[in-house]
Amino acid sequence: MNLQEKDKKYIWHPFTQMKTAPLNIPIVKGEGVYIYTENGTKILDAVSSWWTNIHGHSHPYIAEAVCEQFNTLEHVIFAGFTHPKAIELSERIIGKLPYLNKVFFSDNGSTAVEVAIKMAFQYWYNKKETKTKIIAFNHAYHGDTFGAMSVGGRDTFNNPFNPFLFDVEFIDVPTPGNENIVIQQLNEKVKNNDVAAFIFEPLVQGSAGMVMYASEILNELIVICKQHEVLCIADEVMTGFGRTGKFFATDYIENKPDIVSLSKGLTGGTMPLGLTVCSDKIYNEFLSDDHSKTFFHGHSFTGHPLACAASCASMDLMEKPETWQQIEMIIAEHQQFGKKLESYSLIKNVTQRGTIIAIEFDTGTNTSYFNNLRDVLYNYFLEKNILLRPLGNILYILPPYCITKDELNTIYDAIEEFLINY
Ligand SMILES: *Cc1c(COP(=O)(O)O)cnc(C)c1O
Repeated sequence: MNLQEKDKKYIWHPFTQMKTAPLNIPIVKGEGVYIYTENGTKILDAVSSWWTNIHGHSHPYIAEAVCEQFNTLEHVIFAGFTHPKAIELSERIIGKLPYLNKVFFSDNGSTAVEVAIKMAFQYWYNKKETKTKIIAFNHAYHGDTFGAMSVGGRDTFNNPFNPFLFDVEFIDVPTPGNENIVIQQLNEKVKNNDVAAFIFEPLVQGSAGMVMYASEILNELIVICKQHEVLCIADEVMTGFGRTGKFFATDYIENKPDIVSLSKGLTGGTMPLGLTVCSDKIYNEFLSDDHSKTFFHGHSFTGHPLACAASCASMDLMEKPETWQQIEMIIAEHQQFGKKLESYSLIKNVTQRGTIIAIEFDTGTNTSYFNNLRDVLYNYFLEKNILLRPLGNILYILPPYCITKDELNTIYDAIEEFLINY
């Protein structure tokens, strides 16, 4: 059996209809923006491997940091013990989120959200206030565990689990033109002062199809929440670490969240790690001689030293001026390309926030994940050795920051070629 056949025999892949999906492509090597198949074909990774890989694959600097850490300390129980890399990472993250004070570790984006929700609920529980409502945006995606699913948009993905998800109050996404309606909706939901928290993907709703909205309106929504003592949870799992053009998407807003969830780019996209960062206001409510006020949450691999070492190395790279020059270059190139796309009738809309450009194709039918243009696009670009993974009829580019102008142009040219020939 070759690798593909063995894969088919033994592995159940995520988000994949195993009956109809083509065989998975074995990747045996990664380097920079490229991933390599067994026969040496290199595929340009234009989506940063599920939005995680910010500095390129198998980055030697991160690899060395992880290797050194493995040779020093590979894992230690994180209750009763701590270790230098977890401390260094926490100090550096707080340095970037100076209005927050404490870092809680978990393993991925879903758990970083799960922890945020649990913190928010228990904060009010510990204060002996009955605030149990939570507000989220329609079509949100916050992960696949039950809490994270509950605060996510209710759609085909989580239909089987709907009876088991807790009640959430949903409001619309304040896309341009929609702002006033959303303000009204939020005001209505918070007026009884019984809302525990508001959770949102700041500025860009990733899985919803890279749906973008302005920082000014987010700022306004947070002001309303603060007036009604609603805790604000920013899910920066996708938007963090330079993706939107600033270090965090919440750097665009004046009024800050109480809790921030991080993962994906945190380790440079090399390893699973999640962080939930909160303010002392939250943290202090858990301090007590009463044991029941303790935050009883943890994972076997909480604070994993290898992931922490990778994250610290990634933070080093994020501090390099070259990284930010690259981010600026990508932003400028995307802008130019976006303008060029305006002339194609097949394009309904182009939006951009930082290094993310989203291109909506006019299909004449409703925009949805199951739009069959998705497969047409995916296969078209894969045949050209470019990995683009459209969300329905929304094609987006979300590249690693180490991509060159030439490589960006390879992607742009392929998209224009599609538009001309389709
Ligand atoms: C990917 C994602 C998550 C879930 O992270 P996982 O590591 O896949 O569990 C949560 N929130 C947002 C905004 C995401 O993009």
